[in-house]
Amino acid sequence: MKAFVGGTLIDGTGGAPRADAVIVVEGERIAAVGNRGEIPIPPEARVIDASGKWIVPGLIDAHIHFFQSGGLYTRPDVIDLRDVRPYADEITGIRQRVPDTLARYVASGVTSVVDVGGPFWTFEVRDLARRTERAPRVAVAGPLIATYFPQELKAEDPALIKVDSAEESRATVREILARKPDLIKIWFIPLPGRSPAFQTAIVQAAIEASHAAGTRVVVHATELETARAAVQAGADILAHSVEDRRVDEAFIKLLKDRNVVYVTTLVVNEGYQEVLGRKVRLTDIERRLGDPEAIATFDELASLPVWKRPWAFHWFSRDIAFWNLKRLQQSGVTVAAGTDAGNIGTLHGPALHREFELMAEAGLSPHEILTAATQGGARVMGRSAELGTVEQGKIADFVLLDADPLADVIHLRRIFRVVKGGAVFDPRAWDEQKPSMRSRL
Ligand SMILES: [Zn+2]
Repeated sequence: MKAFVGGTLIDGTGGAPRADAVIVVEGERIAAVGNRGEIPIPPEARVIDASGKWIVPGLIDAHIHFFQSGGLYTRPDVIDLRDVRPYADEITGIRQRVPDTLARYVASGVTSVVDVGGPFWTFEVRDLARRTERAPRVAVAGPLIATYFPQELKAEDPALIKVDSAEESRATVREILARKPDLIKIWFIPLPGRSPAFQTAIVQAAIEASHAAGTRVVVHATELETARAAVQAGADILAHSVEDRRVDEAFIKLLKDRNVVYVTTLVVNEGYQEVLGRKVRLTDIERRLGDPEAIATFDELASLPVWKRPWAFHWFSRDIAFWNLKRLQQSGVTVAAGTDAGNIGTLHGPALHREFELMAEAGLSPHEILTAATQGGARVMGRSAELGTVEQGKIADFVLLDADPLADVIHLRRIFRVVKGGAVFDPRAWDEQKPSMRSRL
């Protein structure tokens, strides 16, 4: 039994911060929360002095991919450098580093992540995380169901499965459901030469098959009309911000009526732009906790022949995505913070803290950002009853901070201790304690 005594608790329910709080933890659960003097501190409890600290629920990254490293060679369908590093070698390296990657999340204050699409081996990552102390809770979608397969991503166990009919769509969902995914993911990309009705039929079939099994569906759709079609077809979660056009009233009403969660992923576009534009600016926490092997690849672009270097990347209208996020937040749509970590330039663990800065630039308050990163993420995990707030009966996942996160979201990276399932971690001790054995997944 442990008692965290004297901190200022921001419990994530939306209430005012509670000064001089006591949190009693028994096993992996929160046994009691209250003010000092109001609830007894059991004599057998180990007291952890939290005075001068702020306590927030464990952070949740609602959109990541374990099959991507964050490095330059991880998306050959975006920039094909397979003659420099074969894709199979990239995947082997990623799988060897999974225990490190899990530890990086915990050190970053991230106690839960949602892997929104990857090879079947990502189910083994979920298993490994369950039996590893220094690992976040992992929810997994398994292979993305797609109407298009980029040949560069060919692998023994690919991240995507292409379907060509509603029947194939249903069959693929059944195959993934056999592995007990937390979610089913659909990659909904408008394809030239294919009618929207054809693609909607495939999406609809996948959603019906998932819902029949009680499994929620997350859809990749970055255009307003694709996102609208996905939600109308029954999608429970939108994996990305809408980036092409401003959202309209009908869309907002649709998301609210259907109780859809909107995941932000603002940082992923910045990551691509910085690495491929050779203007990488790492934040302090990225330098400390980002995977050095991924970071080392960023500079390798400069040494490649000129003809291999991309000219420019302008896929992303930052203004529209920011405007939409602010508008949806104001309208009361549930927002979850997610990074799309693993994509080029988006580093597992610390990227979430850069996402918070971008959400703040979009006009969200620190409190709204914290809620998106805790309650919002718990919704995507499908575990709102257990995660997302610091309340009696919930799982003891929380973070002790050296500075007030409601004064500035940048303080969410001033991590003093991370508590996951009642176990206390010192992120500064991470380097000495990181896994010495690298198990291949
Ligand atoms: Zn993604």
